[in-house]
Amino acid sequence: LNGSADHLSPTEREIDRALRPLDFGDFTGQEKVVENLKVFVGAAIMRGEALDHVLLHGPPGLGKTTLSHIIANALGSNIKITSGPVLDKPSDLAGLLTNLERNDVLFIDEIHRLNPIVEEYLYSAMEDYKIDIMLDSGPNARSVQISLNPFTLIGATTRSGLLTSPLRARFGINSRLEYYDSKLLTTIVQRSSEILGAPIHEDAAFEIARRSRGTPRIANNLLRRTRDFAQIKGDGTITVEIAKFALNALDVDQSGLDEMDKRILSTIIDKFKGGPVGLSTIATACGEEAETIEEVYEPFLIQEGYIKRTSRGREATEAAYRHLGRIAPNHVRS
Ligand code: ADP
Repeated sequence: LNGSADHLSPTEREIDRALRPLDFGDFTGQEKVVENLKVFVGAAIMRGEALDHVLLHGPPGLGKTTLSHIIANALGSNIKITSGPVLDKPSDLAGLLTNLERNDVLFIDEIHRLNPIVEEYLYSAMEDYKIDIMLDSGPNARSVQISLNPFTLIGATTRSGLLTSPLRARFGINSRLEYYDSKLLTTIVQRSSEILGAPIHEDAAFEIARRSRGTPRIANNLLRRTRDFAQIKGDGTITVEIAKFALNALDVDQSGLDEMDKRILSTIIDKFKGGPVGLSTIATACGEEAETIEEVYEPFLIQEGYIKRTSRGREATEAAYRHLGRIAPNHVRS
């Protein structure tokens, strides 16, 4: 149930696609980001130029991929999708770039994980719409420069801090997506239920929303699981009782923290006296990758005030102790 879309089955992928908003009007929340993007897209269309390169950053599941599709739709352009780790060598990138039509969008997910050689190759493509390609090999090897059609690179990253400054500098538009509040997520859950043909009461939509870690992808996942409970345990309508029953069965607690969130908090509190403790130590103790904890779990726990990041490591706050039903030691209480 975490933020990742990597492990979806074909049916789930299909549903994911059906739930994905197709234009700006359908996209709930992130108002400032959306308003700005509309202006930049509109201006690019008026000038008949490619939109400036766009960097979208923020935790997984907040709508970076969705927005990229929406931007391409609004531009009336094609979108090609790839990701940092997939682009092994410059020729992989060259193949994509040379196939772009005028003003197309190239979406690179996890752009912070680009191989440095590929990244460097991207610079001239972004800046001058030009790339060098190697012809022949051995003594006959020579490089020729070829021109590309003007295009827009949209880079998505969960970790903008890991981007090199030369790459970051080449994005004219830089937008940060924030966690959604429960009201916005309620709207998203209601919209999704309508598409799925699952009747839902408003208080049930709100219950799912407020327990979704501020993340539309999680809200949609919880909605789909709740719909299963409504079909088997009820008459198909998602009531607040069904929603609560389902969410408890799924181990999503009152504040929306899931199993791993709780494991992280209890690790810091029980094994390391509330911290400070380093990320890699927490990761080992929880049996999860440090990177996943840092990208997926920690941002929400920090935003909600359960964890503090200090120069000496992570510390549990009073709210974390309270959440686990423990009494915070004096030095933690504010
Ligand atoms: P990211 O690329 O940031 O990981 P996605 O764009 O894949 O996130 O979004 C995950 C899912 O959440 C999408 O399938 C989409 O249905 C839904 N979603 C994301 N943002 C919104 C939104 N603002 N309104 C409605 N649905 C959204």
